[in-house]
Amino acid sequence: MTETNISNKGSYWGYAPAPESADHFKLKEQYGLFIGGKFVPAGSGKRFATINPANEKALAQIADAGEKDVDRAVKAARTAYEKVWRKMSGRERGKYLYRIARIIQERARELAVVESMDGGKPIRESRDVDIPLAAAHFFYHAGWADKLGYAFPGKTASPIGVAGQIIPWNFPLLMVAWKVAPALACGNTVVLKPAETTPLTALLFGEICQEAGLPDGVFNCITGAGSTGAALVKHPGLDKVAFTGSTDVGKAIQKSLAGRSTKLTLELGGKAANIIFEDAAIDQAVEGIINGIFFNQGHVCCAGSRLLVQESVEQEVVEKLKARMEHLIVGDPLDKNTDIGAINSKAQCERIRDYLKVGQDEGAELFQTKCPVPEKGYWVRPSFFTKVAQSHRIVQEEIFGPVLAIQSFRTLDEALEKANNTPYGLSGGVWTDKGAKIFKVTRGIKAGVIWANTFNKFDPSSPFGGYKESGYGREGGRHGLRPYVELS
Ligand code: ADP
Repeated sequence: MTETNISNKGSYWGYAPAPESADHFKLKEQYGLFIGGKFVPAGSGKRFATINPANEKALAQIADAGEKDVDRAVKAARTAYEKVWRKMSGRERGKYLYRIARIIQERARELAVVESMDGGKPIRESRDVDIPLAAAHFFYHAGWADKLGYAFPGKTASPIGVAGQIIPWNFPLLMVAWKVAPALACGNTVVLKPAETTPLTALLFGEICQEAGLPDGVFNCITGAGSTGAALVKHPGLDKVAFTGSTDVGKAIQKSLAGRSTKLTLELGGKAANIIFEDAAIDQAVEGIINGIFFNQGHVCCAGSRLLVQESVEQEVVEKLKARMEHLIVGDPLDKNTDIGAINSKAQCERIRDYLKVGQDEGAELFQTKCPVPEKGYWVRPSFFTKVAQSHRIVQEEIFGPVLAIQSFRTLDEALEKANNTPYGLSGGVWTDKGAKIFKVTRGIKAGVIWANTFNKFDPSSPFGGYKESGYGREGGRHGLRPYVELS
């Protein structure tokens, strides 16, 4: 088989374009802030455009919230908390969450398409992962709303108040669900700030709350950039802050909250090691590497961005990986055949390209696939580095793109030492035929989530979160309820 006939350029391997249509809904030209159950303009009248990273066209104008808007939103959340939500029985709260979950399912197609247009991720992922999991989080937490006594046996669980929640751009609606569902289930109200490059599904979530008849002010959404997030964190009316994003911003938030009684949970960066032993099912492991770092453009904080492969199978794994990577299709996020969509923003694209240069300057060897990429938009071909040293920046720092660093090891202890030699501790993976090795690795790696013979699998009942500079606090499962309750 020659190189040409394994590309996607109209050969017998090629697929005909299969784009998901976007004509079954209409985005508004502009979106206001969602405060007190209504969409309202920002006090300053300022707006910014949200861009489709696959074609660089503006999708809609978004209100840019300033300090006064933040204050309005926090006050709306406080009023809803005191007057309605904290007093409502868990059984009644649960009904709203079930309704929200069902409306997410009903509007799933629209939400998936908007997610892919606004964020650049392939429709296959938004349709099959993001949106169904978002609905699942609401179903799961709806079930907890009237059973908090069972989550914390022997204790009384009360809500803590108003939560300020700040989320990133890699899983926009899913992050809404991770943050909002447990907060609401436990009786808190919310002011959410989505990322400035992906605000649309969080705003559509505001519409969903209206449709579900959620009492006004229980969920509020303010849009804007980092300064809006910083104003939210500074607001004295918050009882709790939950943040997912970069480690640098996480640290800034921690500083800003120093000396206040506001509770904080942080889900920050990662640099996960995916460890492949010689006794692993190699073809499956290669698929796991692809899933771990290349799908969703590597825009995953728990991505398997470091590959540790046992020396005896290194060559085989690298060759198989190259062959598999050449089949990956980069392009239109709305096409159902697309494996890797657009990089979320120009800034992120430049950042990834910088790292590609840094890696080469440091002496590592770069492999990039030859797949065609569209002219307009932000794209990075799937890439990996070999001949890397532990001290290289591409091994130590989070790149947040489809770039893998490959290292080898000889013994299990060496694998663990390398895996743990990072400031992060969010996730990891192990591939082996031996159960005993799985347990040794899962016990030996300091990370919140470790997958065995699979990667990037999520379930609402399974807690997620990090160690070290990957943050603290858990989301999902019974553990994820804890940051949203006072126990007595
Ligand atoms: P990423 O590098 O993944 O874009 P960021 O940490 O920059 O992650 O952004 C995650 C979220 O944090 C976004 O919603 C962003 O607007 C917000 N944010 C950025 N800077 C600040 C800040 N200083 N205080 C609060 N939120 C911020």
